Amino acid sequence: MHKNESVEHLSESGMIGLGWARSGGEATAIFNSDYLAADGIDNVIHVLDQIENGNIPPLDFIELNACTGGCVGGVLTIQNPFIAKARLQTLRKYLPVSRNPIPKGESSYIPELYLFDEIPEYAPITRLSDSIAESMRMMADIQTLKSELPGIDCGACGSPTCRAFAEDVVKKLICVDNCPIKDRHENEGECEK
Ligand code: SF4
Repeated sequence: MHKNESVEHLSESGMIGLGWARSGGEATAIFNSDYLAADGIDNVIHVLDQIENGNIPPLDFIELNACTGGCVGGVLTIQNPFIAKARLQTLRKYLPVSRNPIPKGESSYIPELYLFDEIPEYAPITRLSDSIAESMRMMADIQTLKSELPGIDCGACGSPTCRAFAEDVVKKLICVDNCPIKDRHENEGECEK
């Protein structure tokens, strides 16, 4: 990464802001106890299945973080997520609750950046192909490639798991050589990126 010599001071965080980086932090920030917070992609998928099956209690807020522990466990973070979480807890102790005071005459403070003019459209990002036969073939290729990968989910390739990496390779978004752990071998087909 390039080193930025003049770092612009954009914001200051209080307890709430720092807490956002761990699972449950967003839910805590809304000061409501009727929430569910889950982290880790497998747990998130289980919760979404339960929601789809209508098998959850009534809640006001659901916080789902694909990364283990929340943002502290994100891809390319250099600290162990559990140690990072412990550090955050220590840092939070000495901070005010918030450093974003509500401007005078306003009932809340929502930066313009967070406001949408239009509702975002659904994008079928998990669909492999419009053709079921092609999707089945790609699914089989993903399984085969996944079984050939180290399976340690280290994230060094930029994908959160070896399964996600295999999917991106089969979709020709990245080359199989992007896994620095696996021995170099011939990629299936041409890589477009
Ligand atoms: S770098 Fe290789 S071993 Fe690590 S997550 Fe990516 S595919 Fe898996």
